[in-house]
Amino acid sequence: MLPLLRTPVATPHTLEEALSLLAEPGARILAGGTDILPNLKRGLGSPSTLVSLHAVDALRGVSVGDAGLSIGAGTTLTQVATSGDVKRMAPSLAEAAESVASPQIRNMATLGGNVCLDTRCRWVNQSDFWRGALGGCLKSAGMNPEASFAQAGVCHVVPGGKRCVAAISADTVPVLIALDATARVASASGTHRLPLAELYVNDGVQNLALEPGEMLLGVDVPTHAGARRERYVKWRVRGSIDFPLVSAALRFDLDAGALTQARLVVGVLGARPKQVAVQKVALGRPLDQALATELAELAHRQCKPLENVPYEAGHRRHMLRVLVRRAIEALADEA
Ligand SMILES: Cc1cc2nc3c(=O)[nH]c(=O)nc-3n(C[C@H](O)[C@H](O)[C@H](O)COP(=O)(O)OP(=O)(O)OC[C@H]3O[C@@H](n4cnc5c(N)ncnc54)[C@H](O)[C@@H]3O)c2cc1C
Ligand code: SF4
Repeated sequence: MLPLLRTPVATPHTLEEALSLLAEPGARILAGGTDILPNLKRGLGSPSTLVSLHAVDALRGVSVGDAGLSIGAGTTLTQVATSGDVKRMAPSLAEAAESVASPQIRNMATLGGNVCLDTRCRWVNQSDFWRGALGGCLKSAGMNPEASFAQAGVCHVVPGGKRCVAAISADTVPVLIALDATARVASASGTHRLPLAELYVNDGVQNLALEPGEMLLGVDVPTHAGARRERYVKWRVRGSIDFPLVSAALRFDLDAGALTQARLVVGVLGARPKQVAVQKVALGRPLDQALATELAELAHRQCKPLENVPYEAGHRRHMLRVLVRRAIEALADEA
């Protein structure tokens, strides 16, 4: 049993209080705690304070306005997965939320925690003892000041690599990007919005474009007129409880049977999701078997998984092709 370090936990009741606590150096957010607490037990991080969002009611809930869906960062994944509005307006988001972990975890886990989930790597999501036997790496160095690793500057996935390629493994993120969602971000000095795709940078040590003291308030998914087909698919070892080993979000908008918009966003490659360039091949065509095969080939050609999470990279790449083809075939049947 790994013990949790003694870290003070602050429980603000308002957003203003939470932002002011978060402005303190070394403070980190504790949302559902389903990822940050296991990580802290493994010596991944040593925050000065954990700022719990549990009592900040303003961060919870799903609402519908003229612009579309608004979901607060503190909304649980169970609420996202079961919300009638999410199922109606963004069914692939409900599907992705439903696919996270297990029912008990989804009851605690929040959408904000999923969107801001730390990257994962088979060499880092281990105990300090395990990591110490091999030496540290670009990501684990500095996460636990008490561990003194011999090889702090190396990457075990890309030997000689200067940038960490730990994988973004959150299920809702590829979907939100495929749906053109925007993020609402706040700090003690103000609020701003950015396209969700721009929230992620290509560095697995810290893949979020958030400044210290900033937090995610929520995400907005725009409304759309006309016919749309969307789906989220993930490959994992245990269907009942597991992180994705490769995943894909698909979205197709149609007018009179021809595609006017197409998105294919792939997760668990590197530190940020990859948007496969599908528009040139897809636009103007019907959603059919031929397109399913072509887009699956495109995904296979453009996406190259690394040995950063369990299972061979080559097999994950093969599974991506299978998942994308089957998903489009199923959507074509619906259409
Ligand atoms: C057994 C197991 C299986 C799992 N399977 C999956 C899976 O299949 N798919 C998946 O995606 N995840 C999985 N997870 C990880 C995790 O449960 C989910 O990603 C969950 O959504 C995290 O949300 P949380 O509220 O618990 O986040 P926390 O653990 O509280 O926080 C996660 C990170 O986000 C930051 N954070 C939280 N809220 C905000 C905010 N509003 N603004 C800025 N930063 C914030 C925290 O500081 C922390 O760094 C699994 C976890 C376990 C233990
Ligand atoms: S990708 Fe390399 S640097 Fe990043 S966590 Fe894995 S081993 Fe460490």
